[in-house]
Amino acid sequence: MDSSLQDRYSRQILFAGIGEDGQRRLLASRVVLVGCGALGTAVANLLVRAGVGSLRIIDRDFVEASNLQRQTLFEESDAREGLPKAVAAERRLCAINSSVRVEGVVADLTSRNAEELLAAHNILLDGTDNFETRFLLNDAAVKLGIPWIYAAVVGSYGVTMTIRPGATACLACLLGANADGASVNGSAHSPIAPRADETCDTVGVLNSAAGVIASIEAAEATKLLVGAYISEDARLVSFDVWTGRHQSIRIERNPACRVCIAHEFRHLEGQAQPHVTMCGRDSVQIHERSRSLDLAELSRRIAAVAADVRHNDFLLRFCVPPHEVTVFADGRAIIKGTRDPAIARSLYARYLGS
Ligand SMILES: [Zn+2]
Repeated sequence: MDSSLQDRYSRQILFAGIGEDGQRRLLASRVVLVGCGALGTAVANLLVRAGVGSLRIIDRDFVEASNLQRQTLFEESDAREGLPKAVAAERRLCAINSSVRVEGVVADLTSRNAEELLAAHNILLDGTDNFETRFLLNDAAVKLGIPWIYAAVVGSYGVTMTIRPGATACLACLLGANADGASVNGSAHSPIAPRADETCDTVGVLNSAAGVIASIEAAEATKLLVGAYISEDARLVSFDVWTGRHQSIRIERNPACRVCIAHEFRHLEGQAQPHVTMCGRDSVQIHERSRSLDLAELSRRIAAVAADVRHNDFLLRFCVPPHEVTVFADGRAIIKGTRDPAIARSLYARYLGS
């Protein structure tokens, strides 16, 4: 290791659990993060500063003003420019540590692209906000044999669990019958998962809660990457920053688990994945097929028939009151102002064709 790296990471190298050997392993590690919201930005910041070798960030969304309270990599200008989160995060992280290869991928993780985007990494990190994507991640991690860290936060409360395929319980072991993705219902303050009807869009979220869970996630990732992981079993850790309650529960493998025992990967095989999904409280995402759009050309065409048409290199946005449509270069769209897939589909067909 050269002297500038030696100096940069000196306080971490001094820490007995890491040392120079551990730092070398970190510098050679490949990490992928799915979802770059409150948890994702915080965990990416910590791991890029700690000196992982590379970080791929996959996110489908764009920065808005309401993100800035908790999504710590973003600035007001990112929201004004309507930058995709993966792009804004890549820019900021490269400025923080230019020796880490940071790659932002503006995409929705689906059964079609999951294996390609996640393979050949040492660890997969959960920064998502939904169980559909988490079950897909769990399937991919088990199939590819890559450890992953489940993490979720809502209100003042969050949970996290480190999953090592073949060695510990997986997400389907933890959530049992719910693992078909139909619904995940914990009781209030369930140590397992936030209630399905409680999301950051309905009951809010504290930045401090995301910070605690992201810190635990980053520490777990660091231990795995430097080869210092000692825990045999999966432990589900929960923390409520408002009440001060915290728990750490040992989770057993389910000997009949459909995923990590039977190796049935329903989410990865795509049966469970609709093309039209809810995306936040008041938005619908449409992604029926990939197409390559010329955003500048499309922008000129739509300006004749819709209001507030704006575009940058990554996306095009326009208003059809009370709806706001954001279209990405791969043909995916997020329609804000409705929960009705039929309305979203009809807007998509009218302005973007089918
Ligand atoms: Zn399992």
